[in-house]
Amino acid sequence: MRQKKNRSATMLEVCDHTGVEERVVRQFIREGRLIVSQFPNLGYPCESCGNMIQAKRICSSCQSELERELDSLDKPKKTERTVPTNQTTKQSQLKQYLQ
Ligand SMILES: [Zn+2]
Repeated sequence: MRQKKNRSATMLEVCDHTGVEERVVRQFIREGRLIVSQFPNLGYPCESCGNMIQAKRICSSCQSELERELDSLDKPKKTERTVPTNQTTKQSQLKQYLQ
């Protein structure tokens, strides 16, 4: 039997009913310790654009944008044979961020 009421639970309701702080709930969702795919109202803002997400640190559109950026960093431009050191640093920072 489906419990429609629970599925439409908001973050506020969940915190109210469980007594768990909102930041802890968000942390659990992000760490995959709390599966919220069945609860469209539960999530946290993308760190990049603020869209509501339920996994990772950024939304899928921001992620594909970052991956595009990483792709272009991976392929040195023809006019620019050497990649500046600061770009390499930025790339590894982004890759770490996305892991
Ligand atoms: Zn985003």
